[in-house]
Amino acid sequence: MDKFIPLSVPNFKGNELNYVADAVKAEWVSTGGAYIDRYEREIAHYLNIETAVACQSGTAGLHLALILAGVKADDEVIVPTLTFIAAVNPVTYLQAHPIFMDCDDSLCMDMDKLSEFCQKECDFKDHKLINKSTGRHIKAIVVVHVFGNMADMPAVMDVAEQYNLKVIEDATEALGSYYTDGPYQGKYAGTIADIGAYSFNGNKIITSGGGGMLVSSDLNILKQAKYLSTQAKDDPANFTHGDVGYNYRMTNLQAALGVAQLEQLEHFITIKKENYFHYRNEINYGFQGLRLLDFRENVRPNYWFYSLYIEDTDKYSRDQIIERLKNENIQTRPLWGLIHEQKPYLQAQSYKIEKAFHYYNRIVNIPCSSNLSTDDVFKVIEAIKFI
Ligand SMILES: *Cc1c(COP(=O)(O)O)cnc(C)c1O
Repeated sequence: MDKFIPLSVPNFKGNELNYVADAVKAEWVSTGGAYIDRYEREIAHYLNIETAVACQSGTAGLHLALILAGVKADDEVIVPTLTFIAAVNPVTYLQAHPIFMDCDDSLCMDMDKLSEFCQKECDFKDHKLINKSTGRHIKAIVVVHVFGNMADMPAVMDVAEQYNLKVIEDATEALGSYYTDGPYQGKYAGTIADIGAYSFNGNKIITSGGGGMLVSSDLNILKQAKYLSTQAKDDPANFTHGDVGYNYRMTNLQAALGVAQLEQLEHFITIKKENYFHYRNEINYGFQGLRLLDFRENVRPNYWFYSLYIEDTDKYSRDQIIERLKNENIQTRPLWGLIHEQKPYLQAQSYKIEKAFHYYNRIVNIPCSSNLSTDDVFKVIEAIKFI
């Protein structure tokens, strides 16, 4: 059997063991310790921002972000249907309600439909956007930078300004992506809207085992995030608490791993970019009916995930490609099941979902790990040739 080629796995070739051993030797393994502060500082430095707050996962970060955006029970939040479900579940944790939006050709939220929805399906009264069909107050938008591409941030920020909505950037897949042009030139994914969240889960571009990071230009929000993530302690010595907090702080062990990974992030992006173009050159010019999806033009993506797109569905089917590559010991995956079709969300409102179905049936994510060799890339291409 040929060597197994996984879809997306961690790459530990730097100081990971040194730093984790150091944290263990120092006996600082839990939610206090020097690596946590260092990781926050170094992420902030990388993103050209003042500060960041480490937390236990991307999901925990998004939960805190929604709380700090003022989302409460019975509010509504606009979310994408084409994403990982963790981008949406925190809305439900707060007993608020998601409204599902379609994607555009970048796989990120369709901002024209977003704007149309706000204009046609809502009333804007007393600085509040009210959903006509439910009478509920829409407070926020969660926008996801899918696969390391960037959502159309200028468009979403315009809508948010017009209708007094908070915007949360789910940048869990897009650490390192930034605009190279336009009004947000030089701005990293996650640092543009009110609050941004990153994830360091095992399949993300860098990992801390599990973990997340929150950023905001509003330092008070970050202060609150840290407070809520550490059980809302007002006075640590006497155990007085001013709010219902959470045990959402990152551990020093996770942070040690994260610091070592961050040192290699730009290197990982370089490798992922090279492999992306190897695939793209072979597939876009060598195969009729298949191509690799492009990233947005005015963006330096982090090239996290590669999307093989089926143009000709008479010639190729998604499941046939997945099956064929599986037989060659190559791991791939389809897109996430659309969230508005998942059991917990069948009753939720969705707005003109069309493109998400189109892409759902036509995309296969192909191996993209930062330790994928050029040989492996060509093995995957060879396997696709024999379909
Ligand atoms: C990975 C991911 C998350 C959740 O991050 P965790 O650290 O696994 O909790 C949220 N949203 C999206 C879009 C993701 O890909």
